[in-house]
Amino acid sequence: MGLLSADEPLLRRRPFRSPHHTISTAGLTGGGAAPRPGEISLAHRGVLFLDELPEFRADTLDVMRQPLEEGVVTISRATATATFPCDFQLVCAMNPCRCGWYGDSSGRCVCTQNSVSSYISRISGPLLDRIDIIVEVPALNFDELRSREEPESSSAVKQRVEQARALQNKRFSQGTCRSNAGMQTAQLREYCTLSDDCAGLMKQAFESLGLTARSYDRIRKVARTIADLDASEEIQIPHIAEAIQYRTYQLSQN
Ligand SMILES: [Zn+2]
Repeated sequence: MGLLSADEPLLRRRPFRSPHHTISTAGLTGGGAAPRPGEISLAHRGVLFLDELPEFRADTLDVMRQPLEEGVVTISRATATATFPCDFQLVCAMNPCRCGWYGDSSGRCVCTQNSVSSYISRISGPLLDRIDIIVEVPALNFDELRSREEPESSSAVKQRVEQARALQNKRFSQGTCRSNAGMQTAQLREYCTLSDDCAGLMKQAFESLGLTARSYDRIRKVARTIADLDASEEIQIPHIAEAIQYRTYQLSQN
């Protein structure tokens, strides 16, 4: 893409890309008469951050679905076909509604229920289905802002993450994938077996949340990672419960 300087011709840090919501489909996923990589490829092995997710064009976001799944994107034009790598971690942020205050205890939200629903429904179900962890972040109140309690430092978190990654490196040292996210059916079967108790909890969630087969696999992968962070060989009830909880946002949408 000609984005690297002569002084530093090699990428040595994982990329972090945060395109504006006005980006075109070709800009995001790649395109053009002579196919060029888009932001999802520039974010390869790094992070693609989409702020104000519902402001992106719905059809542009939907084109990302397949590449998200496959880690590669193929662009076909009359003159040429090109395949680019795009194994990125998708991170998105959004407000709960247009004014940003929906659900806040102050009651400041001025949106109608209809406008809240239409704002959220701009993100399609199939895209949401591919997002493993959805967390609602309530606004802090004054006392919480004033609190002098020291939050856990990033370096402490980093240490936990590194330990979990080390476990995964060991687990997959012979395999084709490098982390829990990359597990295919055979590895899921080997490393993500659920005890009867865990399977029972999954069944309940499946029925009450209307989960898809895709989200079933994804929940197991997240639960495996939570178990790794906990240095637990087995996936236990709290791990699976936490992984399911990151999906419950779908409830408030439907
Ligand atoms: Zn609002």
